[in-house]
Amino acid sequence: MRALIFKLQRLLGYVLGFLLFYKPFMFFNSFFASFWQANGFHSLHVPCARIPISRLLSGDWGSSGPVSLFFCLLLAVVSFWFGPLFCGRLCPAGAFSEFLSTLLPKKYQIDWGKYVPITTLRYGFFAGFLLITSLGFAYPCAYCNYYALELFIISIGSGQLLLTLLSLLAVFFLANIVFGLFTQGGRGYCNFLCPVGAASSLLHRIGQLLPGPFRMLVNKSACIGCGKCARSCPMRTISLKQGKADIDTDRCIVCGCCQIQCPTQAIRYKSNITKEL
Ligand code: SF4
Ligand code: SF4
Repeated sequence: MRALIFKLQRLLGYVLGFLLFYKPFMFFNSFFASFWQANGFHSLHVPCARIPISRLLSGDWGSSGPVSLFFCLLLAVVSFWFGPLFCGRLCPAGAFSEFLSTLLPKKYQIDWGKYVPITTLRYGFFAGFLLITSLGFAYPCAYCNYYALELFIISIGSGQLLLTLLSLLAVFFLANIVFGLFTQGGRGYCNFLCPVGAASSLLHRIGQLLPGPFRMLVNKSACIGCGKCARSCPMRTISLKQGKADIDTDRCIVCGCCQIQCPTQAIRYKSNITKEL
């Protein structure tokens, strides 16, 4: 029952994310655009955090509109103090690839952590993204899983699937088929390629240097090393060290899947100054 309620809560969060950011609803845009009297609110690009991030090194991030900058600020503050809640509780693009991964048995899926150092590649790609987009060598929307999902939905609805830009179809295939359906946990794109996720996790990590911010914490004395949390983690960010679960804060999206699966309630989402752990 507890697991069912949790699944329902997660689903509602992603539906809310869809209503806030995707066409035809875009409630986030319409509310803040009318608030700031900004024009052209009816686009996924308006609140996009990826575009200002791509301009960080060039110093041109200020040219993004007020809705986008407000969203970035919100994302930064929440990630710093509470972790990447947007990724784990709201992002419909991440949820979609995660859902696809549930359709295939694990034996047909890739456990990337066995073959490559995910965290190193994640931040390596993020550094490359900052560099090449700031120098103008690449357009951040060209490999956006968020935009690819929107175009995919629109193009199906309008019967113009083949007219969808090839690069975005390729991104859709990579994000949802290779890194979703055929990846254990279904969050391959989030792990390797998403600059918004990487920036959020980086802020989460920096937040942990201070007393107070929240994170997923493992009570080692309550952990029996069953590994259920590791198998349920969509980001595959939990490993067993000396028979105890260990969470890599550099990739945890505070989705809570591990917490709900733990038979001894050893995992909690708490402030890092919590004494009992
Ligand atoms: S460690 Fe837990 S909260 Fe973090 S991503 Fe994995 S399942 Fe979600
Ligand atoms: S599910 Fe709970 S008891 Fe099992 S390894 Fe994870 S933290 Fe430990």
